[in-house]
Amino acid sequence: MNSASQAGPGGRAITRSLPTHADVVIVGGGFAGAATAYQLTRMGIADVVVVEREAACGYHASGRNAALGRQLTEDDGFTAFTVRGCEFLRNPPAGFSDQPLVRQTGSLLLVDHRRDIDAMAARARRWNLPHERVTAAQLAQRWPYLHSVPTAGGVHFLTDGVIDVHAHLFGFLHGARKRGARIETNCEVIGLSPRGGAVAVETGRGVIQARCAVLAAGAWVGQVGRLAGAEPVQFAPIRRHLFVTETVPDLDRDAPFVWHVGAHEFYVRPEGNGYLLSGCDETEVAPSDVVPAQDAVEVLAAKLSPIVPALAGFGIARTWACLRTFTPDRRPLIGWDERLPWLFWVAALGGHGATGSAAVGETAARAIAARIAPR
Ligand SMILES: Cc1cc2nc3c(=O)[nH]c(=O)nc-3n(C[C@H](O)[C@H](O)[C@H](O)COP(=O)(O)OP(=O)(O)OC[C@H]3O[C@@H](n4cnc5c(N)ncnc54)[C@H](O)[C@@H]3O)c2cc1C
Repeated sequence: MNSASQAGPGGRAITRSLPTHADVVIVGGGFAGAATAYQLTRMGIADVVVVEREAACGYHASGRNAALGRQLTEDDGFTAFTVRGCEFLRNPPAGFSDQPLVRQTGSLLLVDHRRDIDAMAARARRWNLPHERVTAAQLAQRWPYLHSVPTAGGVHFLTDGVIDVHAHLFGFLHGARKRGARIETNCEVIGLSPRGGAVAVETGRGVIQARCAVLAAGAWVGQVGRLAGAEPVQFAPIRRHLFVTETVPDLDRDAPFVWHVGAHEFYVRPEGNGYLLSGCDETEVAPSDVVPAQDAVEVLAAKLSPIVPALAGFGIARTWACLRTFTPDRRPLIGWDERLPWLFWVAALGGHGATGSAAVGETAARAIAARIAPR
């Protein structure tokens, strides 16, 4: 056993031991790593260790996102994950969580042109998603605060909703732990090297020898891949800001979330007593515990004031930022490394990783289980 001393309750030193061997070590305790661990243990691979550098899982993108459960994404490849992910959110396995994982508010995806409504409705039909088309006039009548938004209208998706991201993430982690997985926080991976047909995962608290390592390190996945000597993949961490407004009088808490996916991209949904907003900014940055830009509130106001002044008029009570991670073609990387037989990627989940996580984890776990049969 590896071991390390940490401060326990009341500052008392406690010794936590790290296993020296495992079937699978998963690097990262966000949605990618947690869902993969959960699905592996459901498939009978229980000797799994999730190692998370931070003191708590979900500290980065997985705990700071907008919680929008949107099924129809930009790309049909990822939509396969979000549609299945939402099925899981609506009907999780018994005992997964003692509270609902999603509040089915519906969503309104707004577009620039009539032809975009046609195309979106056709995709919604193909994916069998309950929906209705909404013209700009109907939009203004039913949701008056949107009357000035430059849009041709959009599509109302009836089964989208707002995710309880905490319940969802910790459902995966608790479920994995119940079946035998270990979740180790305060445990940074600092090296990965081949050893006897398998891999030695070097952490700040000792070395774990595993049959394979899963890279689920979010914005840091490129850095961790380099530690393993993998061929470089160009991962781009993209910063985005989120805001919550001051109290909004007569707020309709059950209103659908609105996502303008055209030239004036922004989204908004009720959150507490106000609105959660994003101007959908995109700035490529180095991976870090990202902090908001100093002018973030002014940039948001400049974007929203001309197009949706009803929203821009509320004061901002809270601002934060986090990183979405993409490959150059914006498709996720889920699969075995082409060169290193002990390395598996669950990376670049982009802007819909919370929604698609159950299906992403299942796809990853199936591929891992096919090579690593339970012992
Ligand atoms: C502003 C914003 C809004 C979003 N809104 C939505 C939304 O509404 N709906 C939706 O579905 N998705 C949304 N997303 C996307 C979603 O949050 C991500 O796709 C998802 O959280 C990515 O999960 P992950 O596990 O890959 O990454 P992360 O959550 O970043 O997890 C990776 C973990 O790896 C750990 N790690 C890194 N390096 C190491 C190391 N060397 N050793 C050990 N651990 C390490 C990190 O500490 C981190 O905890 C949003 C993202 C952003 C930024």
